[in-house]
Amino acid sequence: MAAELIDGKEIAQQVRAEVARDVAAWTEAGHRAPGLATVLVGDDPASAVYVGGKQKASAEVGIAGFDHRLEADAGQAQVEALLRELGDDPRVSGILLQLPPPPHLDAGALTEMIDPAKDVDGLTPISAGLLAKGRPGLRPCTPAGVMEMLRRHEVPLEGAEAVVVGRSDLVGKPVAALLLAENATVTMCHSRTRDLGEVCRRADVLIAAVGRAGLVRGDWVKEGAVVIDVGINRTEQGLTGDVEFEAAAERARLITPVPGGVGPMTIAMLLRNTLIAAQAQAGVLA
Ligand code: NAD
Repeated sequence: MAAELIDGKEIAQQVRAEVARDVAAWTEAGHRAPGLATVLVGDDPASAVYVGGKQKASAEVGIAGFDHRLEADAGQAQVEALLRELGDDPRVSGILLQLPPPPHLDAGALTEMIDPAKDVDGLTPISAGLLAKGRPGLRPCTPAGVMEMLRRHEVPLEGAEAVVVGRSDLVGKPVAALLLAENATVTMCHSRTRDLGEVCRRADVLIAAVGRAGLVRGDWVKEGAVVIDVGINRTEQGLTGDVEFEAAAERARLITPVPGGVGPMTIAMLLRNTLIAAQAQAGVLA
């Protein structure tokens, strides 16, 4: 393997340690500890594990946790009322609605209920609009984690050809906007892109966020490219990304593994967003 691995576990640990340090300084300066409210509707086991992980990580860095769990049959009005209440609660700096909620709920309408100042997932239309406009705001956690990895490895982005495969609101679109803000030349690909391989071969920085194991073939990777694999796919071989890892690593300069790449970054960036939100709410710009 020629490529150097980008170690998401280690970078996430560094970010978490920095947040812990900054939270301590914040509270020592006389401010209330930042607070993260999580809202989980229903008893989906995977969602419960994610929420538990977010609360545990918050506690480890000194963020106060507010763990709200509603029955699977909770109505739209009940969840909306809780989100409104959390928006008004000064102890709560950040609100995270665990997605997806049960199908009888309107996830889009619920997301829109989150106070944009507390939108630590960065998924409300206001946060998306601020990002699209290039204005300060809370950025979605996984895309922010991708950018943090590129930054820590000093990957040059200005003028670089960046190709993003996948155009979801959660990952693809915000990653593309963040790369554009760093003056990369960004191409977005999706399920109807013609000759995906040809487009990927142009990439100095290739981001895969689709959710299809091995979609991005090793020979689509330009020699010396930086490859960030956001995909998480459960296969018979275990967890894999969207990129044919072994073949891609022969050609890339830097590459993320799956697992242990982008995955651990998401919670780290959620913690950082919660601190940033608390500071902004106190009138102190981060
Ligand atoms: P999504 O299903 O919302 O979006 C997938 C995108 O891929 C769509 O925009 C679609 O157009 C595109 N696509 C589908 N088939 C394609 C094809 N054949 N060629 C090109 N593009 C194609 O998914 P998502 O929420 O953006 O997540 C993508 C992947 O990232 C998933 O595997 C998910 O599990 C993973 N993910 C990881 C993290 C993390 O590491 N923390 C966070 C979020 C998502």
